[in-house]
Amino acid sequence: MDIKKVGVIGAGQMGNGIAHVMALAGYDVALNDLSQDALDAALARIEKNLGRQAGRGLIGEDTVAEALARIKPTLDMADVGDSDLVIESATENEDIKNKILENLVPHLRPETIVTSNTSSISITRLATHTDRPEKFMGFHFMNPVPLMKLVELIRGIATDEATYKTCLAVVEKLDKTAASAEDFPAFIVNRILIPMINEACYTLYEGVGNVASIDSAMKLGANHPMGPLELADFIGLDTCLSIMHVLHDGLADTKYRPCPLLTKYVEAGWLGRKTGRGFYDYRGDIPVPTR
Ligand code: NAD
Repeated sequence: MDIKKVGVIGAGQMGNGIAHVMALAGYDVALNDLSQDALDAALARIEKNLGRQAGRGLIGEDTVAEALARIKPTLDMADVGDSDLVIESATENEDIKNKILENLVPHLRPETIVTSNTSSISITRLATHTDRPEKFMGFHFMNPVPLMKLVELIRGIATDEATYKTCLAVVEKLDKTAASAEDFPAFIVNRILIPMINEACYTLYEGVGNVASIDSAMKLGANHPMGPLELADFIGLDTCLSIMHVLHDGLADTKYRPCPLLTKYVEAGWLGRKTGRGFYDYRGDIPVPTR
């Protein structure tokens, strides 16, 4: 199937990155969120990030204008439904995603492929909230989308081969690399990464190290480009906690129990960079550890 128009639901940190790379690759994009403010913020972010790429000489100024012109922000689900491929990238909460998919279905064309950028939720289960489980799959980008090369492609139990091949061709057109994952909780990357971040939270919770020592230990001692707590702030602590719950519930193994300190940060609304505070406080000129 030839994909020309992509609908993106959720214009947060992932959704705006997805709209950015899709528009740069030449796809028309309908970008949806709950409010005009969220759409305006996403467009401003995309413009800034495209400008940064142009400033580094990676793309031309003409390309920036062309890419921006391809993105149509919309509050109307009908604009999203009128796409060849839809990527749902709203908040990592199964009830929210189920409702979005149910609201989307009446607006879809019969041939449209529907996907989710979920980090952890069962693709097979989400597919049951559509009328097309065979045309539904996981299309999981990494953060930040314009920079990260990987996309995990996850087939649900009913996903057909044509849908998989079409999504694979889109990944290739984006100049990214696909890794195929089976539909088990958190797939590959987050099955490994998020328990490591949760363990870093326990290391902090139990007083083995403070924020700065844990991050510098993993940067200098394990050659990670970012410390695990810095990375957690970057991903969003709500997303990290939600993935731990999915692993805990889905695999029923106590090794996946979410760290109480991670829960406490989320309950406080300290969700990381996106709210200005998490394991670090970002409200000043430089990030300052909060513990
Ligand atoms: P975010 O909080 O930055 O953005 C979520 C957006 O969804 C918000 O703008 C919110 O207003 C919008 N939204 C909520 N309900 C909606 C609805 N009913 N209709 C339309 N929009 C709605 O979160 P994010 O980090 O962009 O995560 C989005 C998805 O991407 C999640 O499924 C997450 O697991 C996944 N993901 C996140 C990362 C990461 O590092 N943060 C990486 C890969 C995948």
